[in-house]
Amino acid sequence: MRRRRKRILVTGGAGFLGSHLCDRLVERGDDVLCLDNFFTGAKDNVAHLLGRSNFELMRHDVTMPLYVEVDEIYNLACPASPVHYQHDPVQTTKTSVHGAINMLGLAKRLGAKILQASTSEVYGDPSVHPQTEEYWGHVNPIGPRACYDEGKRCAETLFFDYRRQHDLSIKVARIFNTYGPRMHPNDGRVVSNFVVAALKGEPITIYGDGQQTRSFCYVDDLIEGLIRLMETDDAVTGPINLGNPTEITVRELATTISELAGAASVVTFHPRPTDDPMQRRPDITRAEEVLDWRPRTALADGLEATIDYFRPFAD
Ligand code: NAD
Ligand code: UDP
Repeated sequence: MRRRRKRILVTGGAGFLGSHLCDRLVERGDDVLCLDNFFTGAKDNVAHLLGRSNFELMRHDVTMPLYVEVDEIYNLACPASPVHYQHDPVQTTKTSVHGAINMLGLAKRLGAKILQASTSEVYGDPSVHPQTEEYWGHVNPIGPRACYDEGKRCAETLFFDYRRQHDLSIKVARIFNTYGPRMHPNDGRVVSNFVVAALKGEPITIYGDGQQTRSFCYVDDLIEGLIRLMETDDAVTGPINLGNPTEITVRELATTISELAGAASVVTFHPRPTDDPMQRRPDITRAEEVLDWRPRTALADGLEATIDYFRPFAD
C-alpha cells in the first residue's frame, strides 16, 4: 500500500541541516514547507528544490505566530554556530523560546507531531563522559554561550510541558557536532574554519591548546536519525542523543583536515573562548536501541566530501 503523502513543516529549512532534511523529505514524496528568516541560512541551499511541486519556501521568523496546515513539524530554526548565536544573543534566546512556544502552539492546534532540534550544549561543559541522556548538564547560565544553551534547555522544558499538559506528540533530538556540505563558509564552526583555511593555504586557527575534544557526525547520518525519530510512535519522546561517538581532539582534527586537503598548513594558537566545553562525546545506546540507528560515515570520508564542497569557495 502506498504511504499517505504528509505535509511537513521544516523551520530553519534553508540552513545547513534543514536543507539536507528538506532534500530527503522532498525525495520521499512528501509536501515540504520550508520556513526560514535567512539569518544564517540561504536560498541557495534550497534553490535546487524550488521547481519541485512538493516544495515551498516561506520567509518567516519563528518568533512570530504562524498559521499553516501541516501533519509534522521539524523545528530547526536557530543559529547553531557560536559566532552567529552570540552576535545577537537576545534574539537567539527569543528564537529558541518564543520559537518553541509558537511551533508548539501550532502543533497543538493541528494535533501535529513536532520534533525539536536540541543540542549537546544542554550538557554544557560536561563532567559526565560520555554524555548520556540522564545527565542534567553543567551549564553556566550567565555566560556568553547561555543564550544558546539555556534557550535550548528552556525549549526542551516547553516540549515536555506541552507533552504533560496537552498530550502532544513530541520528539526531542540532542544533536552533537555535525558537519558536511552546505555549512556556511564563514560559519565560524571548527570544521568549516579548518577546511576553508587549509584550502586557502591560510593558518589553521586552534583555540586553546587544541586538547579539547568533539565527536563529529556526518550530515547524512544525522538526517537519517532525525527522520527515524520522527517516525517513532507517540510513546517515544526522547530526549535522544544523535551524534557520532568517535571522539577526536581539535588538534588531531587540524592535522587530519590539513592532510586530506593536501595542504601544508601552519597552525596558530588563539585564546580559548569562555565556557568552551573541554570534552564531548555522545552515548548513543538509546538511539541504537530505540531507532536502530548509528552513524555509518567514517570521519575521513565525510571530511573528503566536505572538502570537495568547499573547494570553489577557496578560489
Ligand atoms: P544553521 O545556522 O545553518 O541553520 C539554522 C537555520 O535557522 C538558518 O537557516 C537560519 O536562517 C534559520 N533561523 C535562525 N533564526 C530563525 C528565526 N528566528 N526564524 C526562522 N528561521 C531562523 O544551523 P544548523 O547547523 O543547520 O542547525 C540547525 C538546528 O540544529 C539548530 O536548531 C541547531 O541548534 C541544531 N543543532 C545543530 C548542530 C550542528 O552541529 N549542526 C548541533 C546541535 C544542534
Ligand atoms: N575551534 C577552534 N578553531 C576554530 C573554531 C573552533 O579551535 O577556528 C574549537 C572551539 O574552541 C571548540 C571546538 O573547536 O573547542 C568546536 O567548536 P565549534 O564552534 O565548531 O562548536 P562547539 O564549540 O559549539 O562544539
